[in-house]
Amino acid sequence: MVEEEVLREVDKGLMLPLMEEFYTIQGEGYHKGTAAYFIRVGGCDVGCHWCDVKESWNAGTHPPTAINDIVENAAKYSNTIVVTGGEPLTWNMDPLTSALKEKNLSTHIETSGAYPLTGTWDWICLSPKKNKLPEERIYDVAHELKVIVYNKHDLIFAEEQAAKVNVDCILYLQPEWSVRDKVVPLIVDYVMANPKWKVSLQTHKYLNIP
Ligand code: SF4
Repeated sequence: MVEEEVLREVDKGLMLPLMEEFYTIQGEGYHKGTAAYFIRVGGCDVGCHWCDVKESWNAGTHPPTAINDIVENAAKYSNTIVVTGGEPLTWNMDPLTSALKEKNLSTHIETSGAYPLTGTWDWICLSPKKNKLPEERIYDVAHELKVIVYNKHDLIFAEEQAAKVNVDCILYLQPEWSVRDKVVPLIVDYVMANPKWKVSLQTHKYLNIP
């Protein structure tokens, strides 16, 4: 395929810059402990300074991959597919999720919500970032709100975001990994004082798995 054709396919969401894909245990949020196949799509311009997947940012470094190949592969491993990034909503997620749904797979997304919501999702984990706020529509449909806490100011941001989500949305505070020792006590105290929140830990990192 010539380069322009590839770009057109990526534009339509029929190909995606695939950074990595792997079968593991979901470590975070409501579905923690569940075996799932992760599809990590490249491309993100949100620019979190503590981001632990900065290699994902430049979509051009990840090979454009046909979604049918991605789906065929994913279906071999799990009924639960987690699409993450990078920021997956950089791209049109409609074709990928249609193809996953044709195989009766559960579709989960982890997103900052910074771009318009595309795709059909069984589970939406909204993890908003201060420097590029979510588009309004996603607050109504998010199943969980996961705010990463790097310092105490993030708790104020967490409350601002919690005020915007739908009533059924489950609220999580998750320590940013590199400062977990400092931040976990802060989160524990906060959740006990404000029990509408729950603690989310990156349990896959404690388990030493991807
Ligand atoms: S939104 Fe996610 S991938 Fe993008 S910079 Fe922030 S943490 Fe990294």
